[in-house]
Amino acid sequence: MTERLYYQDATRCEFEADVLRCEPAAGGVRVYLDQTAFYPGTGGQTADTGTLAGQPVIEVGEDDAGDIYHLLAHPPAATRVRGLVDADRRFDHMQQHTGQHILSEAFVRLYQLGTVGFHMSQDVSTIDLATDRLDDRQVAEALRLANAVVWEDRPVDISYHDAAETGALGLRKPTRREGEVRVIGVADFDRSACGGTHVARTGQVGVITVVRTERFGDKTRVYFLCGGRALRAFQDNQAILSALSAMATTGIPELPAKLDKLLQTVKAVERENGKLRAELQAERAPALREQHRGADGISRVILTLDEPADIARSLCQKLIAGDHRTLAAVLSAPSGTVFVGRTSDLTADMQALVTELRAAFGAKGGGRPDFAQLGGLSRETAAALLDQIGSRYRSCSG
Ligand SMILES: [Zn+2]
Repeated sequence: MTERLYYQDATRCEFEADVLRCEPAAGGVRVYLDQTAFYPGTGGQTADTGTLAGQPVIEVGEDDAGDIYHLLAHPPAATRVRGLVDADRRFDHMQQHTGQHILSEAFVRLYQLGTVGFHMSQDVSTIDLATDRLDDRQVAEALRLANAVVWEDRPVDISYHDAAETGALGLRKPTRREGEVRVIGVADFDRSACGGTHVARTGQVGVITVVRTERFGDKTRVYFLCGGRALRAFQDNQAILSALSAMATTGIPELPAKLDKLLQTVKAVERENGKLRAELQAERAPALREQHRGADGISRVILTLDEPADIARSLCQKLIAGDHRTLAAVLSAPSGTVFVGRTSDLTADMQALVTELRAAFGAKGGGRPDFAQLGGLSRETAAALLDQIGSRYRSCSG
């Protein structure tokens, strides 16, 4: 088995090791060493990156036997190799992982909420709490306690125990491991069985913050950032807020009220605009009727509007108001809805027309004998349907 150097010293990012064996694998060769500082990416913590024997380490993982392999593109030329772990990334993982221990214990101390899952990605880390109810006040209280522990700069120690003895240690979560168990202790606060990399004192976590929570099933997922990640998120968010504040010509604290006012204004303007467009279309009705009047005295108005359905509907209703011997069909192109109607001095059955065309064009719809509609049409079927209605109207004598 490979000796795990990070077990005793998480800050060690340079090491030398003997190559024990190499095994061909997908994407290159798995290199096994007598010792390594590379963390293999288990227990929720992301794997390290870096170089080994001058080559980028493509992947570090544990094989089926629980031993650490390093995937390289080519076998190393020498049997003694030098490894370099990406130190910034490693420290970031130490901050997130230690912060997780502290945050998880804070939820236990305040609300008896156990952590049932932990996941670290390159952007954000999550813990899953065994509850379907977690409110903002509880999150704020847990953060207050967790950050107090961070700022007290308590020592974080590593100890080893026989699995049989761990019952007396007061672990946050009982371990299922056998044999020797590695325990991470945050002084007078938390004890957890863990194989990951942690900082030596809680002050190095810097700060712990929660960005959001999400309920799934009977659990709640808490998304959190520690240390450098929290600082970067603050700077990114500050830049966004500053840009919004400049656009809205107001201070950051006044932004919510200003944006709310702006959105209400936009909605009112949109409502007014819709009303005016509908009135504009309706005013065209008398002229349209005369323009499309045939030799038999019947006006057949067939139109496509680039307007929403309610405007097409109101124009169609305007066209068939009064005794003007008119057949109308108005398509709202954006919504794929066509409205058909006739004036009360004609007898053509619009309901029957719609029922017949509905099946042929795979549309939905219905209506009354004098006014009906068909919807759910694509641009192509809508045009073909309008053609079909046109030919029906032409052969219709009223
Ligand atoms: Zn840990």
